[in-house]
Amino acid sequence: MRIDLHTHSSVSDGTETPAELMRTARAAGLDVIALTDHDTTDGWAAARDTRPEGLTVVPGMELSCRWFPDDQPPISVHLLAYLFDPDAPALSAERARLREERLGRGERIVEALAADGYPVTWAEIVEASAGGVVGRPHVARALVRAGVVESVDAAFATLLHPRSPYYAAKADTDVRQGIALVRAAGGVPVFAHGLATKRGRVLDDAAVAAMAEAGLLGVEVDHPDHSDAERAHMRGLAADLGLLTTGSSDYHGTNKTTPIGACTTDPAQFEALVAAGTGAALFRD
Ligand code: AMP
Ligand code: FE
Ligand code: FE
Ligand code: ZN
Repeated sequence: MRIDLHTHSSVSDGTETPAELMRTARAAGLDVIALTDHDTTDGWAAARDTRPEGLTVVPGMELSCRWFPDDQPPISVHLLAYLFDPDAPALSAERARLREERLGRGERIVEALAADGYPVTWAEIVEASAGGVVGRPHVARALVRAGVVESVDAAFATLLHPRSPYYAAKADTDVRQGIALVRAAGGVPVFAHGLATKRGRVLDDAAVAAMAEAGLLGVEVDHPDHSDAERAHMRGLAADLGLLTTGSSDYHGTNKTTPIGACTTDPAQFEALVAAGTGAALFRD
């Protein structure tokens, strides 16, 4: 059984439609894939309708959250959520608020770049996103198209980096509230790439313990952005806190170089996750 529990389609900031993503997953020999677009469930229907025989699809999402330390600015937290009720009103409203927030914040970044002479426009980026949830990868692709940078990666390392003068933050959900919303919708909240220091500041052990106290059920251990030491530390934390562990690629099509299935989840952990999710059913044969 090969199980990849974190992928993105063009419904957010991946480059393949849900239908293409399903075919990619099957062609890569995966048995289970979760669709976890940022702040939306809009890809679920297409995934259900185009799922190849033999592939199991876990309906999911990656919710944009923040942790508020006592003595520092907020830290970005990505909260994976699986098998929740897509119609649960409070979680649905929070997703909608985050998508709006992304639009305002994306426009602020692009306006700041344009004001300094970078040849990008917000209208072009919105059009290129084709109705998908807009994120920095869309701005990065526009910068590549305009010849400003050579790659999406280079854009993230420079103009779109959190320390860039063009960066704008978004008002993400307090992660304890996010966990509560996912649980109230019957879902399974899992802390995504939680120790990926290459992405920026990360939470300390006490903060992860507080998330567990708030109802977190799992942590992503095997992720392309985690070093071996970070994986080992996260695995130890999960054991101490009684959390389940997952592994996944965080596939974004050609927006990243990581192939689908680059990291995978242990079948027993997957079974535990499915048993904990009561808000939606798997899409399967
Ligand atoms: P945003 O949610 O708009 O702040 O943008 C963050 C998104 O960009 C996340 O989904 C990441 O997966 C993606 N991302 C972060 N770093 C990179 C990178 N170097 N190349 C491509 N995508 C990235
Ligand atoms: Fe992304
Ligand atoms: Fe993420
Ligand atoms: Zn992701």
